[in-house]
Amino acid sequence: MSVVPPHLEALEAEARHAVAEASSAQALAEVRAGFLGRKGSVSALLRGIGRLDPSERGAAGAEINRVKQRIEECVAARRTELKSGEQARALSEHRIDVSLPGAGGGRGHLHPLTRVRREIEDFLWSRGFSLEEGPEVETEYNNFEALNMPAHHPARDTQDTFFVASDRVLRTHTSPVQIRAMTEREPPFAIAALGRVYRHDLSPRHSPMFQQVEGFVVGRETSFAELKGLLFSLAEHVMGDGVEIRFRSSFFPFTEPSAELDLRCLLCAGDGCVTCSSTGWIEWGGCGMIHPKVLANCGIDSREWQGFAFGMGLERVAMLRHNLDHIRLLYDGDVRVLEQL
Ligand SMILES: [Zn+2]
Repeated sequence: MSVVPPHLEALEAEARHAVAEASSAQALAEVRAGFLGRKGSVSALLRGIGRLDPSERGAAGAEINRVKQRIEECVAARRTELKSGEQARALSEHRIDVSLPGAGGGRGHLHPLTRVRREIEDFLWSRGFSLEEGPEVETEYNNFEALNMPAHHPARDTQDTFFVASDRVLRTHTSPVQIRAMTEREPPFAIAALGRVYRHDLSPRHSPMFQQVEGFVVGRETSFAELKGLLFSLAEHVMGDGVEIRFRSSFFPFTEPSAELDLRCLLCAGDGCVTCSSTGWIEWGGCGMIHPKVLANCGIDSREWQGFAFGMGLERVAMLRHNLDHIRLLYDGDVRVLEQL
């Protein structure tokens, strides 16, 4: 009787066939387990050796192990084959066409109003102003009375002002920051405040919420001439060389004398167009020498100190720069518009 199990050759052939048929790494692992795993048919043969005559065990074991070894090699070869096939398929399926145009990152940019705001802040800071902030919900006193606007003043009409409580308003200008700062400090000082303000107003040039910059200087010898020089430099800084400004005599309760500040219309170079209502000039802001009463309200002796103040909208600058005919274009957040600015 042969020491070799009777069907060992057939078993090896069967194993080689199954290995060759395995079409994936998963299928190959299952085939291997079926023959060489703990419960596999080759392993079962090895366990059967114990039942043989002791003199035959050595030869039978060696023969089965050789078959086991060959099947193992066969599996390893098939594994390599499948792997390279999978790589080749992956390469052909996921080919990258380097000639295709890129998807593009789409970098954004700062909003036009943010740019205007930062430029003005930089300018004022370079001129020695300290930048301050104040709350957008203000007391009626800080927003009006302290600024010499008594109860009957038209600006206090509810048509213009948003009240959030009987004595609390959404600030209608950044001037309350002036009151807060002047009350807390000893002159001399130069302070600027930039921020959102609110008025019940809606037109192509007005929005219920808009942004203002306010500056004020208190010293022993501040003058209107100094104010004019500063505003001219500011206009040049944000509008570029060649900008023209003019001062028109005006009235504000919190300054005396007062003036309105106009910019020469850049769109028509002063010839007159829709944007400047055919005047050649565009209103930019107001300014003047701080009213002695306002100084007194803040505990500053107006016989010793004097000051000037100015305030203007940031939107007007952005609209002029980009030739926008409606303030809404700055706040709608329409990407198609913003991409052009
Ligand atoms: Zn014009």
